Amino acid sequence: MFENLQDKLDRAFKVLKGQGTITEINVAETMKEIRKALLDADVNYKTAKAFTDDVRQKALGQNVLTAVSPGQLLTKIMNDELAELMGGSASELETNANPTIILIAGLNGAGKTTFSGKLANFLKTKKGKKPLLVAGDVYRPAAIDQLQVLGGQIDVPVYVNLESKDPVGIAQEGIAEAKRNGNNVVIIDTAGRLAIDEAMMNEIAAVKQSTNPHEILFVVDSMTGQDAVNTAKAFNDRLDFSGVVLTKLDGDTRGGAALSIKSVVNKPIKFIGTGEKMDALDVFYPDRMASRILG
Ligand code: GDP
Repeated sequence: MFENLQDKLDRAFKVLKGQGTITEINVAETMKEIRKALLDADVNYKTAKAFTDDVRQKALGQNVLTAVSPGQLLTKIMNDELAELMGGSASELETNANPTIILIAGLNGAGKTTFSGKLANFLKTKKGKKPLLVAGDVYRPAAIDQLQVLGGQIDVPVYVNLESKDPVGIAQEGIAEAKRNGNNVVIIDTAGRLAIDEAMMNEIAAVKQSTNPHEILFVVDSMTGQDAVNTAKAFNDRLDFSGVVLTKLDGDTRGGAALSIKSVVNKPIKFIGTGEKMDALDVFYPDRMASRILG
């Protein structure tokens, strides 16, 4: 992951690492290179500029120019700054309420249904919870089937109502079912669209209003680059979600989304999807991601 950004940063750093001493001029040059690398990796301009400006200032403030290993010090400064940009520390999921209601939102193909299954599996196996999945994508029977198959794989019940086309009603029935059966987490998968759409937003907003969820997780395909940031903004403006899930970080993805989303919508990235299997889910740790980006 992040090969593109990584390669470019490596190249930018080679200049620094190869030099015994660093002048103010080549710190500035390197920042320019790094900014270019970030822009190429779909980080939006404002984020890239703020990042390099901060790093440059910190570098000069910490006397990088006279440090024994300037390249190393600069890498550390960048690492810390990147981690900060992506939220500082890991952001926990709110799961104390009984039942905890978690709404899953995002465009079609982002990985909502897969993530719903992964999250149920994570909460069951790692947190000792008793989740119930709710199939709220009333437009795609395949999505309902898919959720049932996933539920079967991880041995988590799935609430389905094939007679209904009303996502609000289904969500409420699901919550009632959870209360009856002692499920302490309800994960509601919702319908997406291929693009941002008023009807879809109205529908998810209605599900939000009627279920009053503790968490609304916005799922986004990290391979969609700058679009991921725009989609995040549109969903956040309407839903005020509580966290982001970046999927498909196992592919040949660019790092831009992880860097920009947090700064644009000011919401934490909580999980990353790293494959199609039910255990291919990681809690998002900004510092680990930063190290991975910088190598
Ligand atoms: P939805 O339309 O948002 O519910 O998306 P799905 O959950 O159906 O996922 C769309 C496709 O992406 C499926 O083929 C999934 O197997 C795949 N997918 C989801 N998450 C990941 C991931 O983290 N990595 C990879 N490689 N594929 C994923």
